Amino acid sequence: MNYITDNAPLTDGMHLLVDALKRNGVETIYGVVGIPVTDLARHAQEVGIRYIGFRHEQSAGNAAAVSGYLTQKPGICLTVSAPGFLNGLTALACATQNGFPMIQISGSSDRNIIDLQQGDYEGLDQMNIAKPFAKAAYRINRPEDIAVGVARAIRAAVSGRPGGVYLDITTAMLSTTMDAEAAAASLFTPIDPAPKQYPCSNAVKRALKLLASAKKPLIILGKGAAYAQAENQVRTLVEETGIPFLPMSMAKGLLPDDHPQCAASARSLVLGQGDVVMLIGARLNWLLTHGKGKKWNPAVQFIQLDIEPEEMDSNRPIAAPVVGDIVSSLEVMIAKMDNFNIQCPKEWRDAIDTVKQTNAVKMQAKLTTPTSPMNYFNALKAVSDVMQGYKDIYLVNEGANTLDDTRNVVNMYRPRLRLDTGTWGVMGIGMGYAIGAAVTSGKQVIAIEGDSAFGFSGMEVETICRYHLPVTIVVMNNGGIYRGNDPNLGGGADPSPTSLTPDARYDKMIEAFGGMAYHVTTPDELRTALTDALASRKPSLINCVIDPAVGTESGHIGNLNPKSSLSPTPPKEG
Ligand code: ADP
Ligand code: MG
Repeated sequence: MNYITDNAPLTDGMHLLVDALKRNGVETIYGVVGIPVTDLARHAQEVGIRYIGFRHEQSAGNAAAVSGYLTQKPGICLTVSAPGFLNGLTALACATQNGFPMIQISGSSDRNIIDLQQGDYEGLDQMNIAKPFAKAAYRINRPEDIAVGVARAIRAAVSGRPGGVYLDITTAMLSTTMDAEAAAASLFTPIDPAPKQYPCSNAVKRALKLLASAKKPLIILGKGAAYAQAENQVRTLVEETGIPFLPMSMAKGLLPDDHPQCAASARSLVLGQGDVVMLIGARLNWLLTHGKGKKWNPAVQFIQLDIEPEEMDSNRPIAAPVVGDIVSSLEVMIAKMDNFNIQCPKEWRDAIDTVKQTNAVKMQAKLTTPTSPMNYFNALKAVSDVMQGYKDIYLVNEGANTLDDTRNVVNMYRPRLRLDTGTWGVMGIGMGYAIGAAVTSGKQVIAIEGDSAFGFSGMEVETICRYHLPVTIVVMNNGGIYRGNDPNLGGGADPSPTSLTPDARYDKMIEAFGGMAYHVTTPDELRTALTDALASRKPSLINCVIDPAVGTESGHIGNLNPKSSLSPTPPKEG
């Protein structure tokens, strides 16, 4: 809507910003409204941009981030000034760590009051605070800069290694008017915002030569390869060379987990013995113990495919760096592969298959051993059985043991369907990712949540119900962080630091907002409830009661958890 004055029609910053987003293909804004962005959200809805309103900005930011991961276009999160901005900033920082493109657009209060620190309503120097947490941060002070500001934000979010961008919009800018015709003429769409980047041919030859020399080669697939949508090239490379592959958590499903060359269940063997390891969109960070230490073959040599040149040698020397985008890099490597005769030795594949068979038998025993109450394994067996009928469903997963055990038990069959705690191992992504995935794809989502992890974003069940999203939440409820039976070492009446309410009924939460609620205590009940919930495609929550005594402290990363030698610590899982 334009204002008509005596002379030329006018528009204002708020309208022009929405027009710029629409012009750049933005379909959805995730946010929480308030001063000064309420009308902006209304206007976005008015022009056909979907607005999804949350209960907390962190979840809105997580939804935007995951939508960026799934689409290669920046997800947009809208926040109010100061506290709303700060609440969203955690998600922006997390997106940057994960390499997911998103833009947090935040209203901010009057510059003149902030800059003199005179105490404005929700006054904060937001852009300077955002800088260290974002890939880039910009402020738009004048409507005539909106088109360029939005273009800069989009390019920064999606080019090179993607990340989170902060875009500060001042209250004054939002209401400043400008000539409507000039405003419309200023809008544009950036050409090729994430350009292809081919690696240099020497780097490709060096990498292929090293790969051809391997006796025990291994390919590690990371979420960068999933983000890059490189599944076809990855499949060609893997199947033509016969090299085993190990998917990182969110790369599960890039090739199916039941692919004969998947070495996920022989992880210790392949890391411990692999002599040439090719990293495709995976960093040698804490999740791979920095490529060093007792988990790794001490003589291992690395090939690394990554778009970020500074990633090379960040943790240990890389013998063959290949800098470029993954699809282009793999296309070039595949085209040149025939000159190098790369074939995985049969003895190595046989050794891996033997270990896989042994481990499959052990896992089967764990999954089928009945216990009362349930434990993670017999509960997850029921979940995984039902999910065989839903191979296209998104799986959101967070928690400690809930995360580790679900990753190991529930196979993925298609790319980018597994969404989890990611690079930071952060709790609280659950409902934001579930909503973002459901809204972006229109598909069903199952969120498998530890009871503690669920608590960080649990209020968003109201959002899920309000928008009628096909999200089913399974809360693995053992009544605590890690587990629910720790004592208070001081002997007092307060619960221990890791305890939550015993016998909590998380199912009642969704009931309050009209969703479908289930309370289950056996694998059979879980199987029935999940079958029913998924068939309904309705917002649903299953409170899945498991033994308070099961759960290993810090899950699989107990080694990162310092233990005091001065006071007794509660016993480990029995
Ligand atoms: P994981 O946690 O699955 O191991 P990481 O997030 O550590 O994966 O690593 C992903 C890597 O992928 C990052 O280093 C990032 O720079 C890289 N990356 C992301 N997108 C692309 C792309 N299109 N081409 C090449 N590399 C990419
Ligand atoms: Mg728990």
